[in-house]
Amino acid sequence: MISKNPREKLTEKHIIHVVGAGLAGSECALQLALLGYDVVLIEMRGEVMTPAHRTANNAELVCSNSFGSVADTSAPGLLKWEAEQLGSRILEAALANRVPAGQALSMDRERFAEMVTAMVSAEPRIRRETRVVKSLDEIPRPAVIATGPLTHESLAHSMLEHFGDEFLYFFDAIAPIVATESINMEIAWRADRWDKGTKDYINCPLSKREYFFFTEEMKAARKTEPKDFEKNTPYFEGCMPIEAMLERGDLTPRFGPMSAKGLRDPRTGNMPFAVVQLRQDNREGTAYNIVGFQTKMTYPEQKRIFRLIPGLEDAEFLKLGSIHRNLYINSPKRLNRDLSSKRDPWLFFTGQITGVEGYFESTCMGLMIARFIDQKLRGVLHEDASNIGELLPPRATALGSLLNAITDETRADHFQPTNINFGHLPAIADTVGDTGGDRRRRLDKHDNRLLQIAAAREAFAQWFRQQGRSVKTNSAMDRMAQELKAATEAATQAATKSATPSATQTATPSATPSAMQADTHPAANETAETTDV
Ligand SMILES: Cc1cc2nc3c(=O)[nH]c(=O)nc-3n(C[C@H](O)[C@H](O)[C@H](O)COP(=O)(O)OP(=O)(O)OC[C@H]3O[C@@H](n4cnc5c(N)ncnc54)[C@H](O)[C@@H]3O)c2cc1C
Repeated sequence: MISKNPREKLTEKHIIHVVGAGLAGSECALQLALLGYDVVLIEMRGEVMTPAHRTANNAELVCSNSFGSVADTSAPGLLKWEAEQLGSRILEAALANRVPAGQALSMDRERFAEMVTAMVSAEPRIRRETRVVKSLDEIPRPAVIATGPLTHESLAHSMLEHFGDEFLYFFDAIAPIVATESINMEIAWRADRWDKGTKDYINCPLSKREYFFFTEEMKAARKTEPKDFEKNTPYFEGCMPIEAMLERGDLTPRFGPMSAKGLRDPRTGNMPFAVVQLRQDNREGTAYNIVGFQTKMTYPEQKRIFRLIPGLEDAEFLKLGSIHRNLYINSPKRLNRDLSSKRDPWLFFTGQITGVEGYFESTCMGLMIARFIDQKLRGVLHEDASNIGELLPPRATALGSLLNAITDETRADHFQPTNINFGHLPAIADTVGDTGGDRRRRLDKHDNRLLQIAAAREAFAQWFRQQGRSVKTNSAMDRMAQELKAATEAATQAATKSATPSATQTATPSATPSAMQADTHPAANETAETTDV
């Protein structure tokens, strides 16, 4: 068995073992190296693949190519702003490999993963080893487990032994990717909802008859059967297969990923009954993914049925959809607030396995865990993390809220993976002082959110000041938010000039359009924040 307290053994040099070179593991290793630690980064791909990855590159994105919204009025946008302030290297790589995607930060997936791999290789303090870690006992402490939702089975068993039965499973699914040149642009057209952005999505319209024919075919299609151990495993709401959505009602997809709200077919001038949206998947724009079409239909059925979508009749599928079991720890029950095991304070967990959901949330846990390890090794943070409250980003911030959401013991009995959302940020009265019941009731949802963002930014800046640092003004995230607002305003002005009065009314949801409205129009934001995990 490995030494329980590395601080007793290691004097000057600490070597930290990080298992898993995905988003969280790569961010964590890069941050630890910056903090002056030597890191052994162990990754199994290159020897053994997961069911979803295709390469041995670090930080490979397994499904969508999007980190979600960048709007400075959205919770995911706030999380990115904070992560940028803390110097996230993964965010740096994402920004360098951005592809157009309206309000979302989406990347050329291959270039992004190649860049993260190069960043890690260029770091002399990090040594990458290619092998499967089969047991928690084989890794020296301090150790970080960042093996993600598709953790190798033998290591998952070792974790099961370590944690007992508080190890939870759910299903996650992947949406198909189509070759752009195979999309029929005589039928499909480029546009963003409500004419916001720069026409980054390809939209395929469905009439009422086409919608019901298509959904009936999906219902009747052959599906991949879950294995015995997978039965009774629930889906994660944000990444539900399209057929599972259909089981809730024939019209459910029409109110979700197939909503036509804010979209007008240029051939008819009307809003179609339903729309299937595709989003750019690589920088060249040669590949598009079908947004929200995670599926468990068999491969031949996917090809047959997705080609029923008008505009996709000759679609060439570069990747087909699939579904996999996913797993996470009941963190509020089993982990300390610094994400170390309550049974072994030098064994840390990070990334999706801790119960955050989403690429960027997983990345942020990698960012935070590097700080916690540094603080624990320096003796600033107690071994049981009991004094972490003094060191954490404040509860009002996105990072503070997300950490709280996965470690708050009151959530242990019904613990579910979660992404960042406004529900986790403290209510306004808690952050800006009690404004009185009446005033709170008068604030609409949009105003409330703006106040939550302002309070979060202020709390973050204050926390930074206490550490002798000041927040970057004109950060990349701020610049992107500004660009987004300018593009939205320009598009709205153009629409106002060219449209008939009735069309203008539909394209322009309010007299003062701005990116700030993203959150007040759920449909406009759903491709960036709701449909995709
Ligand atoms: C099928 C699927 C689709 C998803 N789609 C999306 C999506 O579209 N958008 C989104 O935001 N999130 C999505 N997620 C959720 C989640 O955000 C991602 O899985 C994210 O990559 C998690 O980051 P991570 O660093 O925790 O894990 P990962 O990025 O998966 O990295 C874990 C790494 O650990 C390695 N590893 C595993 N076991 C071992 C071992 N025993 N020894 C050595 N190495 C090991 C793996 O090979 C992998 O490289 C999806 C998840 C799944 C499973």
